[in-house]
Amino acid sequence: MMTREKIRLFVDAPLHEGQSIVLARAQAHYLFGVMRLGPGARVALFNGHAGEWVAEVAEAGKRGGVLAVLGQSAPQLDPPDLWLVFAPIKKARTDFIVEKAAEMGAARILPVQTAFTNAERIRQDRLQAHAVEAAEQCGGTFVPPVAALQKLDTLLDAWPADRQILFADEALVGGSATLAGAIARGGAWAIFIGPEGGFSEAERARLRAMPQAHPLSLGPRILRADTAAVAALTLWQSRLGDW
Ligand code: SAM
Repeated sequence: MMTREKIRLFVDAPLHEGQSIVLARAQAHYLFGVMRLGPGARVALFNGHAGEWVAEVAEAGKRGGVLAVLGQSAPQLDPPDLWLVFAPIKKARTDFIVEKAAEMGAARILPVQTAFTNAERIRQDRLQAHAVEAAEQCGGTFVPPVAALQKLDTLLDAWPADRQILFADEALVGGSATLAGAIARGGAWAIFIGPEGGFSEAERARLRAMPQAHPLSLGPRILRADTAAVAALTLWQSRLGDW
């Protein structure tokens, strides 16, 4: 194993020994303008599915540059099969949810429009960029895809029979519905977090009626949606995931 490089960069390119990576303008600006790297400096690269690789700066310019891939420094590490389904809230808080979900090991991030969601649209590309940045900073080799905004009902209409749902239900605040000890590790899961206004009665009824659903209380206080997402991810990861 090679030593860990401080700067990690996601590249949308195959990675193997001897490969040359032509940098996009923004990446060249970051490496050479912001981080002041020059020829011979080393960075770590990952592309989301081939582990982590060490590369050396071969050419450094203001608007571009080339990296030479030297060798693999870490194997690919994929997260457990956990989706985070959440209703987008205010911009900065939605960004936070995506960043934390990527850091905490969600495999897929699905923003949904619920009855009380105020966001009509999201910037999917910007949220995806936040997920990439989070993976770069946390040493991850996987980047969770951020899906397009869709209606909660549409998502549930086609819900896979074998994907369990951890439903953070604010109506259970202070209740005893925890992650039951009998639930086995493994398998496909999704966490559901509602918007500021919570889930509507109809949505709660629909979710609770699904055989895949496990309603969950997140303690005696009502948490903001971003806090609730982090709390539910923590509970699931420590009880059923890869922590
Ligand atoms: N307006 C709602 C109310 O007053 O009941 C609160 C919604 S809360 C801000 C946003 C989401 O976080 C909820 O829809 C739920 O998914 C989750 N949540 C927050 N606190 C929770 C708790 N104590 N137990 C379970 N879920 C919680």
